[in-house]
Amino acid sequence: MLWRSSVKSTLGFVATMGNLHQGHLSLLESSLKDHPISVLSIFVNPAQFNETSDFNRYPRTLESDCKLANELLQKNPGRELIVYAPNDPKEIYPDGFSSVVSVPLLSQDLEAEFRPGHFEGMSTVVYLLLHLVKPQTAYFGRKDYQQYRIVKRMARDLGLPVHIKGMSIIRAEDGLALSSRNQFLKGKEREEALEIRKALLHIERLLANSHKNTELARNWAQNMMSTDSRWQYLDVREARSLSKVIPNKGKVVILGLLKVGDVRLLDNLELELK
Ligand code: AMP
Repeated sequence: MLWRSSVKSTLGFVATMGNLHQGHLSLLESSLKDHPISVLSIFVNPAQFNETSDFNRYPRTLESDCKLANELLQKNPGRELIVYAPNDPKEIYPDGFSSVVSVPLLSQDLEAEFRPGHFEGMSTVVYLLLHLVKPQTAYFGRKDYQQYRIVKRMARDLGLPVHIKGMSIIRAEDGLALSSRNQFLKGKEREEALEIRKALLHIERLLANSHKNTELARNWAQNMMSTDSRWQYLDVREARSLSKVIPNKGKVVILGLLKVGDVRLLDNLELELK
């Protein structure tokens, strides 16, 4: 990016796969507020999909994405926005590309168990994009919690001069976390999808009412999983390391994956044990 060397002001960056909704736009809004120039990347990264069918059906809506991004830009006078939307994966992965960026300790289970290679594909592309854009701040949604922790760890371990900022989950009015995949929910599935949020809130209450007895909460989660095959995982973890070992005090995260129809719904809830 020859352009990058001419930019002297600070730069904010939001990486997406497009099909923008309010969740993505909240990230971009923060970037536009914090920095004179923002870069929004839109790239459906083949390397992070395990199934070609999932990659092929991923919604590609570049025109309306640009319209939404532009509307937001208009509300932030004096700010600049660059949309980077490589159409050909070869722009990111030139012929012969053979490298992988990996954060093994945080990619052992949860999503990784069900999507082998997903996080390696994700962290490699995020590394390449950060290297290209060289932002001061990169905004990631806490909705994809494991992804956020992996990117933060990668940036720290590899000494990347960027602040990885984790942003709040944006939800629909009824509590469902916004996701580009929600549009694939058919008929009653939309209502069924709310069960993930309900389970997370239930575990939060269990922790509060049992004086933070994480074993009790975990048993409840395990019982849910053994009686309902739609759950791929539901667990309480230490927030930064995603370790199963939970300290008496500090931040924990309740993470869940519920499969409704053929849609994988991801959600989580962070809380502080005091
Ligand atoms: P994606 O296009 O799905 O790869 O998401 C791009 C970025 O938007 C990631 O950092 C996601 O975590 C973030 N994101 C997606 N949905 C939401 C949401 N509902 N709330 C907050 N951030 C989100």
